[in-house]
Amino acid sequence: MTLPRKCSFSKLATQCDIPPSYILSVIEKEEYLVGMSCMEHLEPIKYKIKKLQQNHSIPNGKLKIENIKMISTNCIKGSQQDYEDVYSQRLREN
Ligand SMILES: [Zn+2]
Repeated sequence: MTLPRKCSFSKLATQCDIPPSYILSVIEKEEYLVGMSCMEHLEPIKYKIKKLQQNHSIPNGKLKIENIKMISTNCIKGSQQDYEDVYSQRLREN
């Protein structure tokens, strides 16, 4: 399975490009992948998913949030230094 390398959050045509920390999926009979989220955008994305479920755009199942920190370190191409830069940048933004 190939996962997106970016957070799914976007606002006014601006796409968040922080590597995701969470996989969000909805479980209704089968698991349905909804999107990815960085640490910062977990709450807005959860809210968006709830809205989409109300609109019946996505199955109205149970939301599953999986931490992918361990996986993402393998997915991101780049040196350890790159990853640390991303991580420290994230801390600054918080
Ligand atoms: Zn994000």
